[in-house]
Amino acid sequence: MLRGGCFCGAVRYETTGQPYHRTVCHCSICRRTTGAPFVAWFSVPRAAFRFVRGTPATLRSSPQATRSFCARCGTQLSFADDAAPAEIDITTCSLDDPGQAPPEDHTHTASRLAWTALADGLPTHRAARPGP
Ligand SMILES: [Zn+2]
Ligand SMILES: [Zn+2]
Repeated sequence: MLRGGCFCGAVRYETTGQPYHRTVCHCSICRRTTGAPFVAWFSVPRAAFRFVRGTPATLRSSPQATRSFCARCGTQLSFADDAAPAEIDITTCSLDDPGQAPPEDHTHTASRLAWTALADGLPTHRAARPGP
């Protein structure tokens, strides 16, 4: 069981899903919606994820995706793509223990800021990870 939530504690979630697609995303939308240079994410089956306290606010951040965040403190929590209705992405650093879902690659590095040098040796993908 993975547990997490926002900075202020108003929104909490838990998931019984096994994290996959663990990545650090360098896309401009992640950057601009968080104010951070890049954002770590993992995916779980949507059916295995639930909010257990509070209800996050949502933002349609692109024509096919919805992000959720705490309306009180602003922590971004999830990303749901209409094209992948069976999964949901969660911000790794909203976990109580982000060490439970370490990233396995970097995605959208075509948008990477020049002053963010990647030295972790993980694979990089210029856009999304090539899908199966
Ligand atoms: Zn909050
Ligand atoms: Zn992104």
